[in-house]
Amino acid sequence: KSQAKRFRPSDQQTTFDDVAGMEHAKQELQEVVEFLKEPAKFQRLGAEIPKGVLLMGPPGTGKTLVARAVAGEAGVPFYSINGSEFIQMFVGVGASRVRDMFRTAKENAPCILFIDEIDAVGRIRGAGVGGGHDEREQTLNQILSEMDGFESSAAVIVIAATNRPDVLDPALLRPGRFDRHVTIDRPSRDGRVGILKVHAAKIKLADDVDLQDVANGTIGFSGAELKNLVNEAALIAVREGKNAVDSDDFDSARDKITMGVPREEKMTQ
Ligand code: ATP
Repeated sequence: KSQAKRFRPSDQQTTFDDVAGMEHAKQELQEVVEFLKEPAKFQRLGAEIPKGVLLMGPPGTGKTLVARAVAGEAGVPFYSINGSEFIQMFVGVGASRVRDMFRTAKENAPCILFIDEIDAVGRIRGAGVGGGHDEREQTLNQILSEMDGFESSAAVIVIAATNRPDVLDPALLRPGRFDRHVTIDRPSRDGRVGILKVHAAKIKLADDVDLQDVANGTIGFSGAELKNLVNEAALIAVREGKNAVDSDDFDSARDKITMGVPREEKMTQ
């Protein structure tokens, strides 16, 4: 029973209002929300909802955030685990952890089961990396068989996230498993304005700050980087003893962040 406790849902409520931009992803996920709110409505008509949704996109683009928001919108529990946790475990524990996790989810349906960085455990099998990692393969096989084992009427939606969809074992993507794919890219200019608004609402802004300008100067930033930018600007303002966070603080924060990020990383995607 101690195992089940690890999968206690988080009580923190997140909704689509906390997620700026990515209208396309929110639209795709709205159907999952409707299903979790009222599974019977779908079941009456024999409509099958996908069991598994794969969110694909670069780090920090809000995959975890939007998955959490689906649970918040539907008012259902959100259970989450990181794929890398499975492989850090003792031999033989990965597969039983998977069983335990699915059992807990089924007992608490309707709910969301979120697997972040699924590529850690879901890399193509038999690739020989690390000498044919048996433990990892067993864990992956257990995930596959759990997904096959529950009916779509079970009202457990498994959402997985990855920034390496190219390395995933194709078996994960087959019908009845993670067959619904949602791509989440780095935000557009409008997306950046929206994300900046969400996070700037939490700080005291000076009148000279124009978030449109900030968005123009942050091409290529992810949501997580924009959140960090707002916070860095606020920290600089505090350090300088200001009453509000002004546009100079945003400039300094941006310089600090862009100079701190290795060039390579900025270039990929
Ligand atoms: P990773 O792949 O690194 O796990 P992720 O795609 O899951 O990243 P999150 O962890 O959800 O990204 O994003 C980190 C934080 O960045 C979020 O908690 C949120 O505060 C902020 N953020 C990211 N995208 C958005 C967005 N679209 N709107 C508002 N905030 C965002």
